[in-house]
Amino acid sequence: MRVVVVGGGIAAVFTAHYLTLMGVEAVVIGDRPKYPLTTLVLTQSMPHVDDVLLAKESLEVYRQFTNPRAITSIDIMPRWVSLDSLKLAGVRYRIIEDAEWVRLNSDEFIVETTDYLIPVRRVVNYLRGRLRVIDARARLKVVNGSLVVIANGVRYTGDVVVLAAGPGNSDLASQVGLKLPLRRYQCYASLMTGPGRIMKLSIGDDVLGWYSRPFIPGLFIAGDGCGKPGEWAPLDYGWRIARLVSRRFGWAIPILTRSGTCEVSPSGGPVYGEVKDGLYVLGGLDGYGSMVGPALARRLAELVVTGKAPIDDYRVEKYLEFNSNWDPCTVERHNWLTVVKQ
Ligand SMILES: Cc1cc2nc3c(=O)[nH]c(=O)nc-3n(C[C@H](O)[C@H](O)[C@H](O)COP(=O)(O)OP(=O)(O)OC[C@H]3O[C@@H](n4cnc5c(N)ncnc54)[C@H](O)[C@@H]3O)c2cc1C
Repeated sequence: MRVVVVGGGIAAVFTAHYLTLMGVEAVVIGDRPKYPLTTLVLTQSMPHVDDVLLAKESLEVYRQFTNPRAITSIDIMPRWVSLDSLKLAGVRYRIIEDAEWVRLNSDEFIVETTDYLIPVRRVVNYLRGRLRVIDARARLKVVNGSLVVIANGVRYTGDVVVLAAGPGNSDLASQVGLKLPLRRYQCYASLMTGPGRIMKLSIGDDVLGWYSRPFIPGLFIAGDGCGKPGEWAPLDYGWRIARLVSRRFGWAIPILTRSGTCEVSPSGGPVYGEVKDGLYVLGGLDGYGSMVGPALARRLAELVVTGKAPIDDYRVEKYLEFNSNWDPCTVERHNWLTVVKQ
């Protein structure tokens, strides 16, 4: 079997990696990803047990290539949120009801877990070096009834084509008249300085709506928010997030704001599976890429090779007919406010 994988980041290289391990001839066509950060955060503190299990599996995958740095994670959330996913997945956590270093309302609490900083760029580049990679932009075309991938003027064909090109997936599918259940949006983050404690933590404040992680000594990255694809961040974006951080930690000063294009499915999470005969996708990794990307790539590779895989919540087939007018800025599967205590 020969598979052409389009894309150059986590989704593409891990899919090709697993296909290769399964004895399949895989070629990756994609340019080098422009990761905004040197490390991405892998958290296991998520409200859906399936996501947590994928994150645990992905962490084990990364450990084969790198030494992920453990870091204390705190999630600030209302008391009515259910922590069942952590219990079911066996994630160790501690509840903090009150702390002098963060301002909490009486109806809020903190869940402390462990996150991991993953040098994703390094891992992706390492795998790119071991796989057959064509460093180029690709487009799709149907020639004599067969799907062809074209890059640098060369035609590549395979028994299977996998789209794993992040925010590029929908454009690629539309080149052959297909519509994917994926939408793009603009995500933003600001580099900031603030109290020392923030630099040591990975923070998710689901009540006020911001997250942060350490960057280099004296600086952290904080963000959230959603805009139209390709749009610049609002001029006051950095200060808006800094005000939210200040409400919890006293003060924060934004230095620089950057944006990136993210992609999400109607479930607010990632999808993988077969779109049409011989055309597969792994996309919608949203703010999840490092957490679930490697584990889902393994599932996709198994599906391609064996034709069998459970119809789980991530299967794209579930959403192919989903054509109502959903807004990529309202759904977010990894937000804790989506699960209520029974
Ligand atoms: C500011 C910011 C912070 C983030 N922080 C985190 C975090 O802490 N933890 C986390 O898990 N996730 C985080 N994310 C999300 C994470 O970056 C994505 O989930 C992840 O990069 C998705 O991986 P991917 O391989 O699907 O797509 P991408 O990383 O976007 O890679 C897509 C690749 O395909 C290539 N491509 C696109 N179109 C084509 C084409 N036509 N032909 C060939 N190649 C093509 C691109 O050049 C790129 O190389 C963050 C995102 C942003 C913007």
